[in-house]
Amino acid sequence: MSKKFSQKDVYEPSEETRRYAWVNNERIYEMALDYLTFWDSVAKNDIEWFEPYREVLDSSNAPFYRWFVGGKINITHNCLDRHVETKGDKTAIIWQGEPENEKERITYRELYRRVCRFANALRALGVRKEDVVTIYMGMVPELPIAMLACARIGAIHNVVFGGFSATALRDRINDANSKVVVTMDGYYRRGKVIETKRIVDKALEGCNVESVVVLERIGNDVNMVDGRDVWWHELEEGLPNKCECKALDSEHTLFILYTSGTTGKPKGVLHVHGGYNVGTHITTKWVFDLKDRDVFWCTADIGWITGHSYVVYGPLSNGATVLIYEGAPDYPQPDRWWSIIEQYGVTVFYTAPTAIRYFMKLGEEWLKKHNLSSLRLLGTVGETIDPKAWKWYYKYVGNERCPVIDTWWQTETGMIIIAPLPGITKLKPGSVTLPFPGILVNIRDEDGNPADSGELVIMNPWPAMFRNLWGEPERFVKQYWRLDGSGRLIYYAEDGARRDGDGYYWIIGRIDEVLKVSGHRLGSAEIESALISHEAVSEAAVIGKPHEIKGQVPIAFVVLKTGYEPSVKLEKDLKTHVRNEIGAIAVPEEIYFVEQLPKTRSGKIVRRILLAIEKGEEIGDITTLEDVTVVERIKDVRRAK
Ligand code: ATP
Ligand code: MG
Repeated sequence: MSKKFSQKDVYEPSEETRRYAWVNNERIYEMALDYLTFWDSVAKNDIEWFEPYREVLDSSNAPFYRWFVGGKINITHNCLDRHVETKGDKTAIIWQGEPENEKERITYRELYRRVCRFANALRALGVRKEDVVTIYMGMVPELPIAMLACARIGAIHNVVFGGFSATALRDRINDANSKVVVTMDGYYRRGKVIETKRIVDKALEGCNVESVVVLERIGNDVNMVDGRDVWWHELEEGLPNKCECKALDSEHTLFILYTSGTTGKPKGVLHVHGGYNVGTHITTKWVFDLKDRDVFWCTADIGWITGHSYVVYGPLSNGATVLIYEGAPDYPQPDRWWSIIEQYGVTVFYTAPTAIRYFMKLGEEWLKKHNLSSLRLLGTVGETIDPKAWKWYYKYVGNERCPVIDTWWQTETGMIIIAPLPGITKLKPGSVTLPFPGILVNIRDEDGNPADSGELVIMNPWPAMFRNLWGEPERFVKQYWRLDGSGRLIYYAEDGARRDGDGYYWIIGRIDEVLKVSGHRLGSAEIESALISHEAVSEAAVIGKPHEIKGQVPIAFVVLKTGYEPSVKLEKDLKTHVRNEIGAIAVPEEIYFVEQLPKTRSGKIVRRILLAIEKGEEIGDITTLEDVTVVERIKDVRRAK
């Protein structure tokens, strides 16, 4: 077995972290085994309801579960109204534009007013309960404002990541059957203006959209279509900054959000007010151990689930201060993120392995220029973090003081499912550790039997779970849910995992990317971690190529660190290294040195593209790719070999 999974590399919570934490009693896991009682108490203690619910969970039509049945709620009441009374002058949003001199601080009272005013504006435009509003914007405060305004009046938001192309935007508008689009003239990215409205105009050539609201951010030239387009500020003119908070059913739809599209065509995932509020609230509070004086910075774009749950709803429901940064991480210099942390005294920082590996490649000199002593907790999400990146993050960003909290979850789960609780959970670099209290996770083998290695499953429903796939209820039932031998309906996450002797979970890759070499199962993430642990390697992606005798053989695509050159010797060294780290079966048959890996716009490696290239097959949907030219460049590298 891989050394990675037997290592005794353990980090205990520091005395200070433990004393300070919301949760410092290990018995919480045991106490939450009666999960309905647990979620009932969270919902009652932490969330305000207009009318109490009658029943915590209704499973009568599973997997169409209903939570907090009969309750009346509005997530914006919990994110805004209740804080205005107690901490109206507290900063809700710190906004930093990419240009250094553009910034804003918005208090809870001000945020409440701006949300109300825009909710009235949407109403004036004819938006009603259950209408789908597509939001396509950069990272400005008006993006969460537009989301909250929709939620306040019971409309459904459909946020499309502002970096997507016209085609990807058009697909999502049409799929969601959305008649209203909220957008902006443009935003800054790497010193350039991204002309958002121009992309919208192109997307709308194939859409049935009735109204477009345009925020003026830059002042660049935009084409306003008569009778369709209206300026945000003109629409709001003269409208009151109070807007009644609509009491909605717990199960009222809050939003649609399309998945990252790492494994194929994105799915429109549906979330609701009640359970989503409960689940994102308590995970924000406990996993990030959020306190009133924290400055929380989750670097994810709001266009992804991480941004929905941990930039907007979770932190605001907790009355926290969140930071939103408009631009690129390395602009104007590679230390931009570190300078923002220093400038605003960020205490809790949540980012993705892709970013950590990128900064690792740039070198720690950039970090050393800044005083990062305000930080007390670091988080990561999106892909498996290899132990080398984990340790780098711990050492150089956290100065060996801050716990590194790896969180596993999905657009579908809505909330964090597996993660340490900083006050009580020992950390192991590369492991997502233990399921959140009240959530029962397990692993199933190919025959559906409990196992220590196989597909990750969730045994019980959980409050922030998705309720459906937009327009695809059959797919919702078929793709994710399966009955086990005892008639229990189980959620299949489509991720491969292992559990070690301490009950700790290790995510080893997508289930269809788990390799079977001569009868052994190996996760892509395991071989990648081994490659990355070599000093010359910055990033790696591993796929399983079909092989007549062995079943599959690993093929690796490797990005080298600056200062290292591809060579036959290095290829040999890497193979030896993998043999030493894991064993002979994991040694890649072929290693390609590439400049870049294909990634989604949310920064995840798209291994299915590498497999298609390797097999000489059709590449499939590439609309979610960050840079499509990388496909041709990788093909060139293969041809040259
Ligand atoms: P699609 O479903 O369209 O293929 P996606 O699965 O990448 O895209 P998301 O919902 O954004 O879309 O991502 C969830 C997935 O990200 C998880 O299923 C898992 O594969 C991966 N992931 C998230 N967090 C972690 C983590 N901490 N460790 C390992 N993998 C993670
Ligand atoms: Mg997925």
